[in-house]
Amino acid sequence: MNQSVRAPIVPIPFIDVGAQRRRLGRAIDDAIARVTTHCQFIQGPEVIAFESELAAFCGARYAVGCASGTDALLLVLMARGIGPGDAVICPAFTFCATAEVVVLTGATPVFADVDATTFNLDTASVTRAVATAKRHGLTPKMVIPVDLFGLPADHDAIAAVAKAEGLFVLDDAAQGLGATYKGRRLGSLAPATATSFFPAKPLGCYGDGGAVLTDDAGLVELLKSLRVHGQGSDRYDNVRIGMTSRLDTIQAAVLTEKLKIFAEEIAARDRIAQRYADGLKDVALVPIVPEGLTSVWAQYTIRLAPGVRDGLAGKLRPQGIPTVVYYPKPLHRLEAYRQFPVVDNGIPVTDRLAEEVISLPMHAYLDAPTQDRIIEAVRAALTA
Ligand SMILES: *Cc1c(COP(=O)(O)O)cnc(C)c1O
Repeated sequence: MNQSVRAPIVPIPFIDVGAQRRRLGRAIDDAIARVTTHCQFIQGPEVIAFESELAAFCGARYAVGCASGTDALLLVLMARGIGPGDAVICPAFTFCATAEVVVLTGATPVFADVDATTFNLDTASVTRAVATAKRHGLTPKMVIPVDLFGLPADHDAIAAVAKAEGLFVLDDAAQGLGATYKGRRLGSLAPATATSFFPAKPLGCYGDGGAVLTDDAGLVELLKSLRVHGQGSDRYDNVRIGMTSRLDTIQAAVLTEKLKIFAEEIAARDRIAQRYADGLKDVALVPIVPEGLTSVWAQYTIRLAPGVRDGLAGKLRPQGIPTVVYYPKPLHRLEAYRQFPVVDNGIPVTDRLAEEVISLPMHAYLDAPTQDRIIEAVRAALTA
């Protein structure tokens, strides 16, 4: 074919935040305008309303908004008094924030391995991580399972290990908000759940935001104090060391509009994931959702034999098809985290996954013709 008559390549977005913005249109403009009219930018009525809507959506008694997913995790660690000498067990196959907050409190993250099929915490490895922590002279206090790529961790198994070992469970649902485990939404499965409203997350706002979900009224009181500099009876009665971490009123107003269509978007994501599985299952290891669980597909991540994915990415890029590797370096291999203990001195599944995974474009507005373009290009690249 003559180069000059070939149709231009339309680049496909990895996550199309704009498509949803166009769909919501005036609803978002009006919600923001209400806030810029009443001017209660901090802790305005939209924050209170969104917190209760979010709690109801997740089946939790309370939601406490804050400034990011990272802060949501950190606020819970602070509320639990986690600090130097304590060990917090978490997977190494996750975004750095899961372990970063542990280090910020002065405690030590201990890295456990994950399951190769679900990418989520392997509970047998958690038990061994407790022993590893003790061998290092640390007191194991908490475990942070991550609902990676939108799929819930095995929360029943984690609750059992946590009970046996005396660990508090803080669920990192930054990617998994809206997903269900045996009929219950994340947010109601652990004593505390942290989530993120970063724009690229399944429920994103128009900036940074986060929340903690819990049924524990005492924890809520502490979180509400900690997010406003450890305030006591009023703002200038500071009874503990806290921070400044609130969910902006404008972001809460945006989130209330987005929450209205979230269930529908989750259903769309699930249909798109199913189409990917149907189109790719004979050429790649596609993700499997265990019986009784649902995923919100924060990422659609396939596995290829080591050494194959760079070639795939290289063939897709010139066709306008982006891919991302989550995560090329697990936390225990990152410079900032190399010094922290790893269970059994090695986490082979994590290391293997880091070599095999690659994520394809995924969002609720990925239409069938665009997705077919992706599927066909992936198939052609892998079967060439
Ligand atoms: C995004 C993310 C966070 C942090 O959320 P922010 O809102 O960006 O601070 C924490 N944990 C995981 C697993 C994440 O994906």
